[in-house]
Amino acid sequence: MSNVRVRFCPSPTGNPHVGMVRTALFNWAYARHTGGTFVFRIEDTDSARDSEQSYTDLLDSLRWLGLDWDEGPEVGGPHEPYRQSQRMDIYAKVANQLLETGHAYHCYCSQDELEERREAAREANKTPGYDGACRNLSNEQVIDFKSQGRSPVVRFRMPDTDFTWTDLVRGDVTFAAEHVPDYVIVRATGEPLYTLVNPVDDVLMEITHVLRGEDLLSSTPRQLALYDALKAIGVAKGERPLYGHLPYVMGEGNKKLSKRDPESSLLMYREEGYLPEGLLNYLALLGWAFGEDREFFSKDEMATVFDVARVNANPARFDLKKCTSINGDWIRTLDPAELAKRLTPYLIKGGVLSGQPSDEQLAVLLDAIPLVQERMETLKQGVGMLGFLFADQPGSASFEVDPIEAEKVLTQDAQPVLVAALNALSALAEWNTAAIEAALRVALIEEMELKPKVAFGPVRVAVTGRRVSPPLFESLEILGRERSLARIAAAIK
Ligand code: GLU
Ligand code: ZN
Repeated sequence: MSNVRVRFCPSPTGNPHVGMVRTALFNWAYARHTGGTFVFRIEDTDSARDSEQSYTDLLDSLRWLGLDWDEGPEVGGPHEPYRQSQRMDIYAKVANQLLETGHAYHCYCSQDELEERREAAREANKTPGYDGACRNLSNEQVIDFKSQGRSPVVRFRMPDTDFTWTDLVRGDVTFAAEHVPDYVIVRATGEPLYTLVNPVDDVLMEITHVLRGEDLLSSTPRQLALYDALKAIGVAKGERPLYGHLPYVMGEGNKKLSKRDPESSLLMYREEGYLPEGLLNYLALLGWAFGEDREFFSKDEMATVFDVARVNANPARFDLKKCTSINGDWIRTLDPAELAKRLTPYLIKGGVLSGQPSDEQLAVLLDAIPLVQERMETLKQGVGMLGFLFADQPGSASFEVDPIEAEKVLTQDAQPVLVAALNALSALAEWNTAAIEAALRVALIEEMELKPKVAFGPVRVAVTGRRVSPPLFESLEILGRERSLARIAAAIK
């Protein structure tokens, strides 16, 4: 065990996205690498935007990914509760302490007044931030504001000095004092904001390393200043946490990958049948490299070598093709029984199986898997590739040829080919791949002198329903004599 404590602390708004998963993975890997603690905290203090569904999805997503947390929801830990919505009294108390000690103050400015003054600052070519108007209000002014019925927000008093820290990823980062004005930590309604609750919990939960996206860089000087105040009033006991900002992820057209981009939704990956192993492997490459040109590794292998110091500060490019191809590599590592298990939910959802496979169906699946495993990049592709094997069985859907494929391939010209194939196959004494292949080659290639594509294309579409299928002769063997011949006969008609 080490004293490293990292946290993943999403807000439960909307669907989990890959940027979030990358942050979770890097924190997890750092905790595992150092023998430290991975804390999972839910930042749900914004009741207008947070949802219970999103909270459940977050837990479910981390579980699906296999990113196990040492402290957090449903697991517990020494700093319970880990949902900020259940810690409101803690924040109220800290806010009061900050007010009493002068580290924070009440600000009575209205939105309109603030906007007006920001505008004036812009016109005067000054930095348009909060101007500190309420820093030192007299008692009379306070009484006056109150009598006007104004309710104040709580603002944190930033030190008037520049702020520098050594970022674990970016090296020394400096924010000039004028760019970090006093900021709101509690709304006029009494609701505490991210600006307060996030650093307060980092302190109370004894977080040592804050690894998060670069979009949060500008909140770091504020959080460090707040940390110093908490230290001064005895709330913080340990050292300042160290900060490391993970690089931006760029999508299409070199724009930042946005939550609205389809390839950013974690749900999409689950629906299409990416393996958690494949997705995590790819996301690990966004800003980090294993070394030795190695691009294929598990999250546990990543954890053995992961160091924040080696995260690259440059933006990372998101490449869905590469992600998919790595996923294909992961699919090829699964043994047939495991792949069958992972495929099953997709086969059920795709209407290929009506429930868990029977022993017979499982046997067919296990026979067919070696034929498709090489070509599959997602589990969902297995539905299209394998569906034909399970149709026309008791309790399953009836077989249908894809109408577009039928129009393209099952033309008038194809009819004599199919007739010859049917005759050749009907005459077979033994139904196995070698015999099927020999019979079709003799009848179609040798006797009719057809090119392989012209010869086998119609047979393939007739029995599998598609032009892209597992290898033809093996497929016919697994499908069996009866259904193969019936389908060719149906296509002839
Ligand atoms: N709840 C914040 C978010 O979702 C956490 C940011 C942080 O890691 O400090 O962006
Ligand atoms: Zn004010």
